Amino acid sequence: MPLYAFRCPEGTEFDRTYPMSEVPASVDCPACGATARRRMSAPRLSVAGSAAYRLIDSTTATAHEPQVVTSLPGAGPRGGAGARVTRNPLHQKLPRP
Ligand SMILES: [Zn+2]
Repeated sequence: MPLYAFRCPEGTEFDRTYPMSEVPASVDCPACGATARRRMSAPRLSVAGSAAYRLIDSTTATAHEPQVVTSLPGAGPRGGAGARVTRNPLHQKLPRP
C-alpha cells in the first residue's frame, strides 16, 4: 500500500499508509491536532516489493479480504484423520455446513 506524506500548519510532517482509493486529502495531526494536508511526493516504489511491505500488505489484506474457507479443516478426500465423530445428541441440532 502506498505511503502518503502529510504536513500540518505547525510544520509537523508525518507519513500514513492508505489504500489508493481511500486516501484522504487531510487528516488530523498526531502532534497538535490541527488539520494536516496531504503533500505531493514521489511514490516510494523502491520499497513496494520488499519483505516488510509484503508483510504489511498481507496483514492489511486479512482485515479487508479475509480468505474464504471452502472445506472443513482436516477433512481430506477420505474423510480422514480430521473427521471427528461426536456421540452427543445435542450436537445433531447444530447447523451443518
Ligand atoms: Zn501539527
